[in-house]
Amino acid sequence: MPELSLAEKLEILADGAKYDVSCASSGSSRRNKGGIGNAAQCGICHSWTADGRCVSLLKILLTNACIYDCAYCVNRRSNDTRRVLLTPAEVAELTIGFYRRNAIEGLFLSTGVVKDPDHTMELLIEATSILREEHRFNGYIHVKVVPGADLLLVDRLGRLADRVSVNMELPSRESLQLLAPDKSREAIVAPMKRVGELIVQTKEERKVSRKIPPFAPAGQSTQLIIGASGESDLQIVSLAAGLYGRLSMKRVYYSAFIPVNTDTRLPSVVGTPPLVREHRLYQADWLMRYYGFAAGELLDEEHPNLDLSLDPKAGWALRNLHLFPVEVNRAPLELLLRVPGIGVRSAQRIVGARRGGHLSLDDLALLGVVMKRARYFVTARGRFGADMTPDAAGLQARLTERTTPRPRWSQPSLFDGANAIDIRSTITGEL
Ligand code: SF4
Repeated sequence: MPELSLAEKLEILADGAKYDVSCASSGSSRRNKGGIGNAAQCGICHSWTADGRCVSLLKILLTNACIYDCAYCVNRRSNDTRRVLLTPAEVAELTIGFYRRNAIEGLFLSTGVVKDPDHTMELLIEATSILREEHRFNGYIHVKVVPGADLLLVDRLGRLADRVSVNMELPSRESLQLLAPDKSREAIVAPMKRVGELIVQTKEERKVSRKIPPFAPAGQSTQLIIGASGESDLQIVSLAAGLYGRLSMKRVYYSAFIPVNTDTRLPSVVGTPPLVREHRLYQADWLMRYYGFAAGELLDEEHPNLDLSLDPKAGWALRNLHLFPVEVNRAPLELLLRVPGIGVRSAQRIVGARRGGHLSLDDLALLGVVMKRARYFVTARGRFGADMTPDAAGLQARLTERTTPRPRWSQPSLFDGANAIDIRSTITGEL
């Protein structure tokens, strides 16, 4: 077979990386000390394609060869596909080349497992250190950790990268055994724990001496595949809550299962992947991280799955109608945050504005409250916002959303217009 050019390798490896969604880059601030590139605190992944994948990072695999055979993966060992491996120097060359042409702001580097986890991690470390040390590249770098690798290698990678991530992929040990039998839960959780510990420890040490190099300053993330196995949303949301609480996880990403292999262990997906479910999980995740909801409030054994037609905050409100309406001039911030249509910013604005006098219903809209939703749940100066108090069924009908999944699944090109905003980005709005 003829030797491939670097461009041809890039095409194969960028295509192989497209199913990994954990590549948002916000949260890191790395100062330029004379080299090239800056990682921006406020997030450099601000461009999105129609299918929601960010393209301001060069998103590639080091290799699409893999010794493992995960049922859901396009790069698995048993697939008959052309295998390509970049050298660490080639990864660096590509990154710098795209960076200089203003096509990217950083690198997201993932990989198949070549030879063994340690060897693969060493290649990732080498690519990252060439960028940092030879090219003095200060831009954002997110690198995947290979489960099963020596934890000392994890330590080294975290000193070079802005973010590291270990993909959990499947929400339960049983599913992992069935669909990714070469991986173990322990091999995935051990580096996560190590990264979590080192992030906390290094932050403390740097309070004493700034000479200590940061460790993964943008934190760690992970990805869960949704719908390849039978776990309920309750199991998934509880797992995410544990990851945030116990392992200092910065972000959990949810990726709707896309059937790329024929495998009897996998469910058949008719039509589009479960994108609305993915969207609802992102909303639930948002509510846990910013609105003070516990996983057990959003879902329980009686309601183990999120209602696809209703956002999870509205779902919670409908199950707790006895708490409403809330008087906006008196309610504490925590309760305001639970009102459908009142987001974090508008709740804070209400608390600030009411110090200057009692708020009216008209004031609420000016403060950013989505009155179309909130009016059924609030009073202001004792006045109710809606013309009637519908019962739970009537409210459900009024709050039901039509959520349109993304029309197709396709790999974002590095050269796309990249202006479309998809369903995933909409979760940053007020719930
Ligand atoms: S280890 Fe990663 S690259 Fe290899 S088959 Fe599994 S999911 Fe695919």
